[in-house]
Amino acid sequence: MAEDKQGARPSRKQAISRQTQRRHPRFYELFAHWSFPRTDHMQPLQWYRERWVLATTALLIATLAGFIMPTWASAMRPAPTAQIRTTLPLTLPALPATARQPQPAAEHWRKVRVKAGQTLSDIFQAQGLGFSDLNRVLQASSNSEVLHQIHPGDEFSFLIAPDGGLLGMRFDRDAMHRVQLNFDGTKVSKQVVARTMQRRERIGHGIIHGSLFGAAERAGMSDAMVMKLADVFKYDIDLAREVHAGDSFTVIYDGVWRDGVYLHSGNILAAEFYNRGRRLTAFRFQKPDGSFGYYSEDGRPLQKALLRTPLKFSRISSRFGMRMDPVLHSRHLHAGVDLAAPTGTPIHAAGNGVISIRGWVRGYGRYIRIRDTPAYSTGYGHMSRFAPGLHVGSHVRQGQIIGYVGQTGWATGPHLHYEVRIHGKPVNPLTVTMPKPRPLAPKLLAQFHSETAPLLARLKIVNTNIKLAQAAAVRTDTNG
Ligand SMILES: [Zn+2]
Repeated sequence: MAEDKQGARPSRKQAISRQTQRRHPRFYELFAHWSFPRTDHMQPLQWYRERWVLATTALLIATLAGFIMPTWASAMRPAPTAQIRTTLPLTLPALPATARQPQPAAEHWRKVRVKAGQTLSDIFQAQGLGFSDLNRVLQASSNSEVLHQIHPGDEFSFLIAPDGGLLGMRFDRDAMHRVQLNFDGTKVSKQVVARTMQRRERIGHGIIHGSLFGAAERAGMSDAMVMKLADVFKYDIDLAREVHAGDSFTVIYDGVWRDGVYLHSGNILAAEFYNRGRRLTAFRFQKPDGSFGYYSEDGRPLQKALLRTPLKFSRISSRFGMRMDPVLHSRHLHAGVDLAAPTGTPIHAAGNGVISIRGWVRGYGRYIRIRDTPAYSTGYGHMSRFAPGLHVGSHVRQGQIIGYVGQTGWATGPHLHYEVRIHGKPVNPLTVTMPKPRPLAPKLLAQFHSETAPLLARLKIVNTNIKLAQAAAVRTDTNG
């Protein structure tokens, strides 16, 4: 090829090449490195071409980096980002009124529980409050005796400003009322909030296998309720000692709830106790004088003229009847029952009556006899001392303390010798038929029956269900 030819052509060739490259940049980018033979004579043109290829490649990379990749990246972004940018006319449910009100932040109220031995002043001091704050509270709460006599376990809440000033105080005036004092500068305001107390009925039923307490626990009853049950039936049965395997009970009682929280068990409304086949019933009834008492199903008061055992004793150390006397060593009638208890245990009058003997009696030691009814009298021997202020002729009420357990006279250990006499003749205090109390007067009796009918019906339902359950259990046993 001639030199001049070569020199004349490059400009046109270059122009075509430039045009081609402009039209097909992608092709040139991809295949440039393949298709440009290197020869010495083609050097100038080759150089230009290579530059174009490089420049175009650079331009492409720049385009990719600057335009395509961001677009791609934004297209690949997670959807929520796009949603946030979108404005949608959403209608939200209205906030409850309480939530919208500016509320005193609960975390600023400091709750304090009174510990044993603490005074109100101690509690104020512990909160960094001074005597003037205590004084303001006492003045503002004027008649709240709660503050004058606080008890371990009582709760107080304080609202204290960041600077340490007292803004508010809360306390329970009684089981049903909460008082809140608010201090705003020199102004004091007092709010009393009545707390809702509810009584809800519960039914407990149990069959005794071991102890009454065990059966009651299985029935979901508290020990306190067992004590109440024992107290209701105390004239007819000693539930601590005279229960037997197979005895059963059903109790309808109420529980007390405050602001929806269970507080404590309330009163026994009705109870039924089967003791070796003997059925005892108790129904709570309000007497015309406003006081409450327990009555059997037929409207007779459960409270008898005499207590069967006039003290808390640990065991019966000697029963009523003929026995070899441990002191005299000959067969004698033991005219009462010996109830062992530690020296000093209080002895209660078994019934309302008048003291007919008080003093030292041979064999009995310190002895009291009470004429309870024209027919019945009770005797108490071996006392360590008499209760003060009692003489022959003194009137005593049932349950009143008349003396204390000892072992004066012929006794081998501390115990109460307890006697019951009918027209002077000794009888067994543990089994004697107590003088039957008179039932309610006809008008009250009608009221009693109408009030207790629903309770009685519920007791019957429990018994029916249990009999059905027992029958079902027997069927299952025989089938299996
Ligand atoms: Zn005795």
